[in-house]
Amino acid sequence: DRVIFSGIQPTGVPHIGNYLGAIKYWVSLQQEPGKIFYSIVDLHSITIPRERDSLHCHILDMTACLLACGIDPEHSVLFQQSDIPEHTLLSWAIGCVVPVNRLKILPQWQERMKQSKDGGHIGTFTYPVLQSADILLYKATHIPVGEDQLIHINLTNELAQVMNRRLLKPFFPRVHSISTSTSTRIRNLRDPSVKMSKSAYSEQTRIELTDSDDHIWRKIRRSVTDCTSEIAYDPENRPGVSNLIEIHCGFSNLTPDEVCADAKGLDTGQYKRVVADAVITVLAPLRQRFHRLRNDEGHLRSVLKNGADRAREVAVANWECVRRLLGLCA
Ligand code: ATP
Ligand code: MG
Repeated sequence: DRVIFSGIQPTGVPHIGNYLGAIKYWVSLQQEPGKIFYSIVDLHSITIPRERDSLHCHILDMTACLLACGIDPEHSVLFQQSDIPEHTLLSWAIGCVVPVNRLKILPQWQERMKQSKDGGHIGTFTYPVLQSADILLYKATHIPVGEDQLIHINLTNELAQVMNRRLLKPFFPRVHSISTSTSTRIRNLRDPSVKMSKSAYSEQTRIELTDSDDHIWRKIRRSVTDCTSEIAYDPENRPGVSNLIEIHCGFSNLTPDEVCADAKGLDTGQYKRVVADAVITVLAPLRQRFHRLRNDEGHLRSVLKNGADRAREVAVANWECVRRLLGLCA
C-alpha cells in the first residue's frame, strides 16, 4: 500500500515556489489512495541559526498556511517533526552505517564548504541522514518533492538497502519520488539563475502566500526580466520572463504555449500585470483563510498535537522493530 511522506521547513511563510512545486501537489494527493504524512521539519530548520521567537511563529505560520491551502488534517497526518523523537533515534542508527565520504560528495555540502569558514556544523553535514530517517520511519513508498531533492531520494534508497542488510530483513521498502507532470521550479524574482527560497535574504526575491495584492503586484512589476519585450518561453536564454510564464501557468492551469498566444502584442510590462492578476486571484482567498486560522493558535496547536499522536503510533511501532532487529532489545 502506498505511504506518502513529505516535509517542509518552518523557515518562513511559504512562497509561490513551495506552493506550485509542493503544497498544491500535496493537496491533490489527498484525492488518491494511500496514507499521507506531512511534516513540518523543525529539526532541519535549526541547522542554520534562527531566532527562537520567529521559529516558533513560523511553525504556526506554516501550519496555518498548509491548512489554508487545503491540507485536510483529518485525512493527512500533519505534524511537527520534533514531537516525534524517533526521527532522531532512527537517524542515529542510519548514521552508524553511512560512510562519511558518501555524504561529503553531496552537492549541498560541497556548496556549504565553499561558503563557510569554520568547516560547517555536524547538523548541516548529516541532515540528509535525518531526511532519510524522516522517510524511512514511516516506511514511506512515495515522496512528492521538487527537483532540488531528487539526489536525497536516491540517497534514501541507498541507505534503506544498507540498513536492510544490517537488519537481515527487507524491512524498509523502496522509495519512489513523485511529481506533477509540470514539476515547476520557480526562480528568484531578482536573480532568475537561482531558485526562489524562503531563507533568501530579501523578501523582494519571493512572493509569500500571505502577501497583499499590492505587494504581489509590486514584486512582480520589479522582477528582473530582459531587454526583449516580446513574451516567449525560453528558460535557457530568457530565464526571467520564462519564470513569469511558469508562475502564470501554475496559477491558471494554462500551458506556456497558450499563455504566449494570449500575450501576443503585450510587452513585458503589460504582461507582468496579467501574471500578477492570475496570482492574486488564487492567493487572495487563500490569504483570508490563513488570517482566520492564524488568529486561533489554540486550534493550530491542537491540529499539530493530533497529528503527532497519529504519527507517533506508526513511528514508535517501526522504531521498536528496528531496535529489535538491531539486537538492542529482545
Ligand atoms: P529554505 O530556503 O529554507 O530551504 P525552501 O524554499 O527551499 O526553503 P523547503 O522547506 O526547503 O523550502 O522545501 C519545501 C518543498 O518546496 C520541497 O518539496 C521543495 O522541493 C519545494 N520547493 C522549494 N523551493 C522551490 C521552488 N523555488 N520551486 C519549486 N519547488 C520548490
Ligand atoms: Mg530548501
